[in-house]
Amino acid sequence: MITTPAYAAESAKAPLGPFSIERREPGPSEVLIEILYCGVCHSDIHQARGEWGDAIFPMVPGHEIVGRVAQVGAAVQRWRVGDTVGVGCFVDSCRRCEACHAGEQQFCHEGMTQTYNGRERGSQAPTHGGYSTRITVDQDYVLRIPEGIPLDRAAPLLCAGITTYSPLKHFGLKPGDALAVVGLGGLGHMAVKIGAAMGAKVTVLSHSPGKREDALALGASDFVATRDPSAFKAHAGRFDMIIDTISAAHDYNAYLGLLRRDGTMVLVGVPEPSLLEAPALIMQRRRLTGSLIGGIKETQEMLDFCAAHQVAADVEVIAIADINAAYERMLRSDVRYRFVIDAASFAKR
Ligand code: NAP
Ligand code: ZN
Ligand code: ZN
Repeated sequence: MITTPAYAAESAKAPLGPFSIERREPGPSEVLIEILYCGVCHSDIHQARGEWGDAIFPMVPGHEIVGRVAQVGAAVQRWRVGDTVGVGCFVDSCRRCEACHAGEQQFCHEGMTQTYNGRERGSQAPTHGGYSTRITVDQDYVLRIPEGIPLDRAAPLLCAGITTYSPLKHFGLKPGDALAVVGLGGLGHMAVKIGAAMGAKVTVLSHSPGKREDALALGASDFVATRDPSAFKAHAGRFDMIIDTISAAHDYNAYLGLLRRDGTMVLVGVPEPSLLEAPALIMQRRRLTGSLIGGIKETQEMLDFCAAHQVAADVEVIAIADINAAYERMLRSDVRYRFVIDAASFAKR
């Protein structure tokens, strides 16, 4: 076992603080990764605060991990010591079910093994994530970080990047389509960049009027301030696709009214439940759907797409000691546009 510094939440009410975990020596098909950067996802907050009802404490969050391979198991073919790699939201799955065979491990019929707040297959030991300095992962659940993306700016691609790339591709966003990105945070700013790189005309819908200039600089061609109630009338029926990244409860019906006939709204944010009214869908044969991260193959495809289109996250690099303050800022929608933890800031390695 390799004793490794980390930061953990001891309970849903406790702030995160220093903690120590044991990482495995890599087994025959595993690699040990020295973590360089880990992005901070709003899902980390939901889970560390017990908002999804499935929390395992103490919890070491973090599923946007970039690092270097430090050690490889005897049977590892794909990776060499020194490779620059990533780990996203899951570290294992059953590998036998129809979803795993289709490369959609996030929908594994036995449940994917989450990078943190999950349990290892077999031992059932709790998994611990990227708010630490090392992680041991099976070689098949590791991604290659292409050259050309700065590593701090690559980390958020492992969740925010794939969570927005996957539905835009799956639901058939086309060049010239009118795409609305709702909520300009970590996921939202990646949806703007990736949507624009796919050739869509992107409009940001935000409840923070001060984000207008940023939205345009990120690649949007228009910005709608949703605090103005007349916005929902003024832009009714305008969009082919809406990607909704809002982390707090809001009125889905109002946003559905912005879709044109046969338009599609994709939920990726996971707020508290709120009411859906059938006419919001019926009146223009609109579709409401959702999407969950992406499989290993598609995550690699997204990383290569981002490298080819020079897309990377806009980040604010923080020390691990600043994590609780970063959570508070995210809860105030004050993130521009992803916090990323520098693993060099842990007290001892
Ligand atoms: P984030 O960086 O905190 O951004 C969320 C954005 O939502 C905020 O910046 C804000 O944008 C908007 N927002 C927040 N509160 C709002 C309110 N009361 N009313 C209207 N808008 C509000 O969060 P994130 O990391 O992007 O994650 C967003 C959500 O996606 C979370 O629920 C997270 O758990 C979920 N998620 C899902 C998946 C998946 O696979 N489906 C993957 C990762 C994350 P404006 O200031 O522009 O309004
Ligand atoms: Zn995430
Ligand atoms: Zn499976």
